[in-house]
Amino acid sequence: MKAGVLALQGDFREHARVFAELGASPVEVRTPEDLSRVDALAIPGGESTTISKLARSAELVGPIVERASEGMPILGTCAGMIVMAKRVIGLEPLLGLVDVTVRRNAYGRQVDSFEADVDIEGVDHQVRGVFIRAPVVEDVGADVRAIASLDGRPVVLEQGSLIVASFHPELVGETRLHEYLLGKV
Ligand code: GLN
Repeated sequence: MKAGVLALQGDFREHARVFAELGASPVEVRTPEDLSRVDALAIPGGESTTISKLARSAELVGPIVERASEGMPILGTCAGMIVMAKRVIGLEPLLGLVDVTVRRNAYGRQVDSFEADVDIEGVDHQVRGVFIRAPVVEDVGADVRAIASLDGRPVVLEQGSLIVASFHPELVGETRLHEYLLGKV
C-alpha cells in the first residue's frame, strides 16, 4: 500500500516513518502526479498558513479535495487538522473537507506544549500525542463524530474516511492512529 504524506512543510518525515513502520510504502506528495499514486494521505503538523500557501501554488487543493470525495482516507494532525477544516477562525479555509470550526493556537496561551494519552474509539490502546500550539475544535457538524476527547474537548474527529487530530501522534513514534487510517483503505 502506498501511503502519501503531504511534504510541503512541517513534520512530514515523521509521518513517513510511522507509515514505514506499519509496513506501508511512504510517498512524499508535492505534486498532483505524486498524489495520484497514493492510497491514503497524511497532512502533517507545521504551520497551516505556510502549508496552505504552498499547497495552493503546487495546485494540490483541487486534486486533494477530489480524492477525498472519492473516499481516499486522509489524516490531518494539528496544522493538518486546520487545513482540512471547513471553518477556521480568522483564516481562509484551505481544503474545507471536515465540517468543524477550529481556532488556531488555542492551547498555546496556557501551555505551549504538553503530552497526553488519549482514548480513541475504535483503537485498542491509548494513543500518545503531543500538543504544540494546537487547534481547539469549537463546533462540530452533524456528520462528524468526535472519537476522542481531552478535558471535555474533542481532539480526534472522524467524518467518513477523514480523520483529524489536534495533536501529533507522529512525534512520539505513536503508530495506532495511522494504523486506524490505513484500515480504511
Ligand atoms: N499553530 C500551528 C498553525 O496554526 C499548528 C501547530 C502545529 O502543527 N503543531 O498552523
